[in-house]
Amino acid sequence: MSKVPETPSPLLDHIKRRIALSGPISIADFMNEALAHPEYGYYRKQDPFGRAGDFITAPEVSQMFGELIGLWAAVSWQQMGCPPKIDLIELGPGRGTLMTDALRAVRNVPGFGDALTVRFVETSPVLRTHQQTAIMASGIPATWHEAFDDIPVRADVPAIIIGNEFFDALPIRQFERGDHGWSERLVGVDADSGELGFVRGRETPVTDALIPATLRGSAKKGDIFESCAPAIAIADQVARRLNETHGAALFIDYGHPSSAFGDTLQALKGHEYHPVLRDPGDADLTAHVDFAAIARAMNEAGARTGAVLTQGTFLRMLGIEQRAELLKTGADEQQAVAIDQALARLVDADQMGTLFKVLIGYGRETTPPPCVSGVAG
Ligand code: SAH
Repeated sequence: MSKVPETPSPLLDHIKRRIALSGPISIADFMNEALAHPEYGYYRKQDPFGRAGDFITAPEVSQMFGELIGLWAAVSWQQMGCPPKIDLIELGPGRGTLMTDALRAVRNVPGFGDALTVRFVETSPVLRTHQQTAIMASGIPATWHEAFDDIPVRADVPAIIIGNEFFDALPIRQFERGDHGWSERLVGVDADSGELGFVRGRETPVTDALIPATLRGSAKKGDIFESCAPAIAIADQVARRLNETHGAALFIDYGHPSSAFGDTLQALKGHEYHPVLRDPGDADLTAHVDFAAIARAMNEAGARTGAVLTQGTFLRMLGIEQRAELLKTGADEQQAVAIDQALARLVDADQMGTLFKVLIGYGRETTPPPCVSGVAG
C-alpha cells in the first residue's frame, strides 16, 4: 500500500524551525503558537464550536445557561443599588451566544438594559464577527477589546465581568519533580522521528508563585505542577477593577477547587481527545483551571471570592430546573426531550455538572452577589 502523503502544516514547520534555531520551547510557547499564531492559530482562523466543530460549550448546549447568567448579572446589579450605568464585560465570548441569551432573558428587568454597555474581550477576528452579528439584535451598545486592561475604567460605573471557558484556553507551563528539584517540561523535536515530543529542561529553583509551598513538601518524583501566568495576571487585573468600581465577577471553567499535581493538558479535535502535540492550530488545546490559584490572586489584590461551587450547584441555585419546566410548557414532545437532555448535560455529575466549577469574585466594598456561599476569601 502506498503511503498517503501527510498534509503539510505550515504551523508545525514553523514550530519545528523555531525549536531548531533556539532549542526546546515551553508548553506555554507551544500553546501560544497553536492557539494564537496570527495566521495559523486555532482561535484565529476558525470557529471551533458546535456540533460540527471540535467541542461544544455550555452556552451552545442550551439557552438556559446564558439566561441564568443574565439573571445572576441583573440581580448583582440590583444588589449594587441599581446604578444608572454598568459595564457588562465578557472575556472570551466565543460566538456571543451566552451574552445574547443573557440579554434576552433580562430585557424585562426595569432599568437594567438602559444602564448597560457590553464590552467583549476577544482576540479572534473570526469570533468577533460572530459576536457582532449575535449582539446586533439586542440593540445594546457593545465595544471590543484586545485585552481586559484595555477597557477604560469609568468613574461610578461598576464592572460585572463574566468568563465561561476563558481561562482554560490560556497558555500554561508545566514543571516536573525530578530526583533533586523541579524542571520545566518543554517541547522539543525527537532526533530520530523528527516529530515533536516532550523533553525535560534542567532542574532549576522555582519560586512560591510557581509551586505553592503547601504542595511542594508533598511532591514525589514525576509529579507535575501546572501554572498559568496569564490567568493569574488577568485575575489580578479583574480583582483591582472589582475594588475600584465595586463590581462583581463570575468565572466558569473545568478545573479543580484546590491546587493539585497532575498533567491536564489536553487536545480535542472533532469532539475526540487528540495527541496534544500532533496538530498545532487544528486541534483545541486546554488545561484544567486551578481555581485556588485564581482566587488567591484575587484575594491578594484585595478582592473577595466565594467558595468554589460546581456548575450543577450554581445552576440549580439560580433555578435551572424551574426554567426547564417553564420552557417545556410551550414545547412539543421532541423539544421537551431535548430540554431535559440539555438540563442533564449542564447539571448532572457525570456530565458537566461536577467537573465544571464556578468562582464568584467581588470588590471589598461590593454587596456579595447571588450564589456567594461560604465566603472563602
Ligand atoms: N465563552 C465561550 C467561548 C469559550 S472558548 C463559550 O463558552 O462558548 C475561548 C474563547 O476565548 C474564544 O472566544 C477565544 O477566541 C477567546 N480567547 C482565547 N484566548 C484569548 C485571549 N488571550 N484574550 C481574549 N480572548 C481569548
